[in-house]
Parts: sequence; C-alpha cells; structure tokens
Amino acid sequence: MTYPIERVATLIGAQRQGNTEAHISFVLTDSRSLCFPEETLFFALRSNRNDGHNYIPELYRRGVRCFVVEEVPERAAELFGDANFLCVSSTRQALQQLAQRHREAFDIPIVGITGSNGKTMVKEWLYQLLSPQMVVTRSPRSYNSQIGVPLSVWLLNSHSQLGVFESGISQKGEMQALHDIIKPTIAVLTNIGSAHEENFSTPEEKCREKLRLFEGAEVMVYNADDALVTHVLNETNNGGQHLAWSTKSPDVAMFVTKIDKQPTHTTIHYIYKGGEPASYSLPFIDEASVCNSIICATVCRYLGLDANTIGERISKLEPVAMRLEVKEGLNGCTLINDSYNSDINSLDIALDFMNRRPDHNGQQRTLVLSDILQSGLPDAELYREVSSLVEQRGVQKFIGIGPKICANKGCIALAEQHFFASVEEFIRSSVFKGLHNEVVLLKGARSFGFDQLTELMVKKVHETTLEVNLNAMVDNLNYYRAMMHPNTKLVCMIKADGYGAGAVEIAKTLQDHRADYLAVAVADEGATLRRNGITSNIMIMNPEMTAFKTMFDYDLEPEVYSFRLLEALIKAAEKEGITGFPVHIKLDTGMHRLGFDPEKDVPRLIERLHNQNALIPKSVFSHFVGSDADQFDDFSQQQFERFDMGSKMLQAAFEHHILRHIDNSAGIEHFPQRQLDMCRLGLGLYGINPRNNAIINNVSTLRTTILQLREVKAGDTVGYSRRGTIDHDSVIAAIPIGYADGLNRRLGNRNGYCLVNNQQAEYVGNICMDVAMIDVTGIDCHEGDSVEIFGDNLPVTVLSDALQTIPYEVLTGISNRVNRVYFQD
Ligand SMILES: *Cc1c(COP(=O)(O)O)cnc(C)c1O
Repeated sequence: MTYPIERVATLIGAQRQGNTEAHISFVLTDSRSLCFPEETLFFALRSNRNDGHNYIPELYRRGVRCFVVEEVPERAAELFGDANFLCVSSTRQALQQLAQRHREAFDIPIVGITGSNGKTMVKEWLYQLLSPQMVVTRSPRSYNSQIGVPLSVWLLNSHSQLGVFESGISQKGEMQALHDIIKPTIAVLTNIGSAHEENFSTPEEKCREKLRLFEGAEVMVYNADDALVTHVLNETNNGGQHLAWSTKSPDVAMFVTKIDKQPTHTTIHYIYKGGEPASYSLPFIDEASVCNSIICATVCRYLGLDANTIGERISKLEPVAMRLEVKEGLNGCTLINDSYNSDINSLDIALDFMNRRPDHNGQQRTLVLSDILQSGLPDAELYREVSSLVEQRGVQKFIGIGPKICANKGCIALAEQHFFASVEEFIRSSVFKGLHNEVVLLKGARSFGFDQLTELMVKKVHETTLEVNLNAMVDNLNYYRAMMHPNTKLVCMIKADGYGAGAVEIAKTLQDHRADYLAVAVADEGATLRRNGITSNIMIMNPEMTAFKTMFDYDLEPEVYSFRLLEALIKAAEKEGITGFPVHIKLDTGMHRLGFDPEKDVPRLIERLHNQNALIPKSVFSHFVGSDADQFDDFSQQQFERFDMGSKMLQAAFEHHILRHIDNSAGIEHFPQRQLDMCRLGLGLYGINPRNNAIINNVSTLRTTILQLREVKAGDTVGYSRRGTIDHDSVIAAIPIGYADGLNRRLGNRNGYCLVNNQQAEYVGNICMDVAMIDVTGIDCHEGDSVEIFGDNLPVTVLSDALQTIPYEVLTGISNRVNRVYFQD
C-alpha cells in the first residue's frame, strides 16, 4: 500500500514545504536501516541522545526525498531543493498518528497483546495457528515499543485479514498511545509479572496501565485466576465481552478442567463456553508455554476454529526462537543464524543486522533462504520482492532452498545465485563445499531442517560456550547513558577481550550504537578491531614501545603516561613524518600505577608537547581507586582535586579543547558531577553494577553439558587425590569444563556450585584441567542436559564472592578455547 505524500501531510496535520511528487511505502526512523530511498518517509525523531535531524543530509545523499521534521533544516531550498519537508510539532506523535490513521482503514479483527511475559510467544503461535486459513500481519520480532508499534501497524496491507500486534510498556502513561494505534478488537493480557515494578507505585497501578489496551475491545482475553487482573477489569468495566480462562471457575468462557503433564508434552482438557469437553496436546511442558497455549486456543475458538483443527495445529506448534545468533563458522565464515519464522519482515530485519555489521576481513555476504511460507502474497510477487530486498541489502550470493523458491527462480535476479530442492541436496553440492570467507545468513523455516546445516557449518571447538547477549549489553549502555549528561562522551572499555565477552563482536555492536570511543589494552587488539571493520576511535591503554608502527598504521590512539614513553613516541612519529597524532595523557592522582604527576610533571609535559608537532593531546584523564565504595569518598575527592588542577593546567596551555575524563562505571553513578567531557564505561557495560555487585542486564552466560552420569556409593571418592568423599549414595555428573577453561579450581570440593535444570549442583572433589564433577543427587537430569556455570540464573558475582575475588577476574579468566556465541533478539 502506498500513500501519496500530500495525503500523508493531511493525515498527520503537517505543514508541507517542497512540492516534489512522491509515493510512500516505507517509514524509517533509523538511517542505518534505509532500503528503498525513493519510497521512504523518514521521521526525524529526537531523543536525549540523538537527533534524527542530523541524518537528513546523509539520507538526502542516499536518495530519500521525504522527511517529517520538527524543524526544517537551514538553507533547505538551496541544499535539498527537491525534498519534501513535513513540519510537525512532534515527529514521534506524527509517526504514531500516521499509524493510527493507517490502522483505521482496516475493518478486520485486530489482536492486541500485552503482559509482562509471553507476548511474543502468543503472537507467534497465533500466527502459526491462524495463518493456514487467513493472511495474518503481525509485529516483526518484538517490536512493541512507542516506535515499534507504529512501525508494526504500518505493515498492514490490502491482503491482511487479521492483525496481531504486541505492546510493551515500562512506564505510566505509555499505553494510551499504543492503544490508539492498535485499537484491538480482541485484547489479550498474558500475565502480570514483576518487570518494571520500580516505575509504578503499586502492582495495581501497573495492571491498570496495561489494561488500558482493553478499552473499546470487543472481547477481552485474560486469566481469571489472577485476582488483581479480575478486580481491575471488573472495576473499569470496559463493556467488552469477557473471554477469560480459568482452572478454578467453571463460570468463565474457557474453563480448563485438567492439565496433564507428560515427559515431552502436555494435554490440556477444557470446556469452551459450556460446550462439549475438548482437549489438545501441546508439545511443550513448561508453565509459560501451557498458559500461552490456553490463551491461543481461546482466541482461535473465538475466531471460529473448531476444537479438532485447533488440536491438530497446536500439536505442531514450534518453539519461538527470538534470537539472531552469530557464530564462528568453518573456512573463515561467520554464521548468522536466524531460525525465527521465515517471513519477509523478519528477513528484512536479519538482512539489516547483517548489513550493519562492519566487514570482516572483506568477507562477502551470502544469504541461504528457504521457501517463505504463508506470506499471503502470490509466489511470483513474493520472490520478486525478496529479490529486490536482497539486492538492496547488499547480498552478493543467494542460495535458495525448497521447491517453491526453485519454481520461482526466475523472479530472483542476483549476480550469483544457486537453487536446491532441499537442505540435503545443498549439503552434497559443490556450492556448499565452496563456502569460504563469507558472512552467511541462514534464514529458514524450521521444517526445512536448517539446524542440520548450522550443525555442519559451525566450528566446533569445545562443548562449553559463553553466550553473549548483545541486546542486554546495549540495554546496559543505555542504562548508563541515561545517567549521563546528553553531551558527555563515552569510552567503552573492551580491554581483556571485552571483559571476556569477545572484543570484536562487542565492538561491532558498540559502533552500531555510536559509542564515541573504544578502548583496548594493547595495539594488537586494536589492529584486530580495525581488520574487522571497526572505524570508531580506538584508544590503547597499554601501548607497547614495540608497537608504535601498528598504532600509526591503524589509527590507534595511545595513552601516554610517562616521559620515557612520550619521548619514544615522538621519536617514532617524527621518523615516520607524522604530525598531529592524537594521544591521551594519563595523570596519576592516587592509584600510583601509571601516569604523570599532576603537580611535578605537568609543567614539563606542557613544555615538551609545545616543542614538537608529532603528537597532539586529545584528552587528559585519571582513574579512581575506589569509586565503587563510599568509604573512599574522601580519597576520591582528593584525587579529583589533583586531577582538576593538573588537567586544567594542561587545557589552559593549548588552544584546542582537550577532553577531560575521570569517571569509570561506578563513578558515572556515584559522582555524576564529575562526568566532565567523557566517561569510561567498563564493568557496567557487561551488566554488573560495581557499586553493589547487582546484575543490571546479564550479558554473559557460561554453559556446558552433562557428559556422563554415574551413581557413586557412600564411602567412595571422586576425582584426583580422593578429595571428593561421598558420605551418602550419590549421583555424580561429569561436565567438560575445567580450570583450563577458566573454571577456578578453588570452586572445587563443594566451595561453589553450578545450575542443572535450575537446581544447584556443587562441585565435588578437585576440579580437573578439562573436566569437573558435580553432585546432581536428587536433580532430575540426563546426559546431554545443559549446565549453567554462571549467567542468566546464576550471577557471576556468586562465583566471585565464593572465590573472594571480583567479577572482573572471573569474566576475564574464561579461556579462548571456549566458543563465544552472540545473540541479538
Ligand atoms: C578498566 C578501566 C576502566 C573501566 O573501569 P570499570 O570499573 O570496569 O568501569 C576505566 N578506566 C581505566 C583507565 C581502566 O583501566
């Protein structure tokens, strides 16, 4: 569906400047995701941190002609002659309003989903259950925010027969806008959990806010066993039909009479609106899946599906994979695995993700795509659309798998393309064997067996993996940014291989999120980042005398902490004929590790810097010894005073502005008035608040699997030197992780534990080099089951506390042979 630009202007009540004709099919809020410039309308959104108006010149250069702005750029007529500017008082509201008007054009059932957990699962399952018989348009991934909802609703088109959209809120007052955009006819509440509790005065207030989505809906689906929800709903009296479910009360529409859990599936017996007893069998057993399936069954019954059809389709429900995984592959390949449902919107998001990642050693971009199921479009149209999308997103090699895609190969028009009827045929082909130095995006409907493909293509180093959640890292970045003045710059510390999480991937994500500086320890780490396409400013914290050439060649800016280093650097730069090379001056204000003395050294330092032009001081900084603990506040104050004096002296001696910085993660929070020009964020980025050891958003999860289980009788021993005495008959599991992987040997002999199926299992006996033994007596587990060493459910600080050390040491101790796997929702 397209809108003429003048129609858009009317719909959002904008004043239009410029009169170029245009038809809008795409709306854009992030310049990095641009795909079809001529048909795109860009909304210049403003946040504390960023201003979309700054990207107008770049987008104009790339062919965009339509912009919604709060201020028309200066000299617009001269610089952007043929552009249309739609001027509004709030671009965000305009985006929401456009989506709202778009929504109003559809007289079809719209399901709106809210709740603390399970929104995406319910949305995806409804899609799986209903798309065999109708064209379902749904939010891509979890686009459920103030921006994500309008972008989702915009996807409704003339083929749509049902819309399914999720809405997420974290604060009071947010739901009204989302409600107005979605205007659900069927409103669904999954559940109310404890997330975002801090932003509401009571759980009731949060519940009330979420239930604003229900206003004006024809029917309301919720769990009547939740007293709070029922109470709030009865009080607000929305007028809609109650379609509640319950395991207790037969008076509701969906009365669940029995939930029967078997080892691999759950059978749910129910009576819908007093009719015949019915049941279905769900291929999952966890509590959340069971509740979400009941909601889905209720909605499907309401939409007229009969019990048998529902039962048949529920038995084939697939798990909802929400993560994009990045893994190291064989033959120099990088794999991006996206087993999220194969559809064109999620394809676009995955391609965008691949595209935003900087080039990796000049790797070419390859897409392996299965048939796209249930798109609602005629095949030829669908695959032509795929072709133009893929081309726009810079894919160089296209590999199509499946009968439909083969039948429509004529619609795909890439320079290099290959087609196979099945994954097996692809695996046997020379195309598969020839994959080499490529970024390969695997995007396949589950039924095509893409997992087999991933299995063959990943480099298998070790069964122990460190999972790194890139979204959580971005959330942590924003958590700290929210505490900083909008103009304060940020250095992200990715020394020690990104505190163990892997510097390259972390750097790619941080660059994408516009970190001002990245800091690594040594020049080689910086060079690796450059070779992987990182163009951000990079600081080298421990520059080696032997690596100056590397720094010059790769634009790596060293820290300078002594006259000896300074002289050597000046000499090396002069020899290369380099002038104005940026350096960062470190002052020692109390750590007594490295740095110039603010009183004694700074005058001489200024003089020396004035007498040369090879180097230029770009920033001056110091480091707190104890910003994490109040007991050092007086000392921190002294440190700051020394820094303030020395750094100001340096600043005053130069005409250009020298940036000053002293706050680290703990400092950002504890000494906000000392944030100055820039802050250096380390541990906080990786999800640990150094002030109280609390987890902000967990980034890294170290996981392994059970290799072998055995029963060990009372009186016997486990492991080297017979240290693990067993005092009653026990079940012992061996796991493939040892001190050579970074599992500290001091955790052995029951000084620490890991989690097996979320239950604590102590380390028994001495931890070996490559293997450890754990006590799983009484825990329901099998060989091959996953074991969490630390992470989402077991904070790394539990380990560092047991070891009487700091989380930094545990994180950075994980050895290189542990595979890093990266996730993005
Ligand atoms: C490591 C480091 C930081 C970051 O410290 P966190 O406590 O991890 O935030 C900041 N500045 C310097 C000089 C560092 O070496």
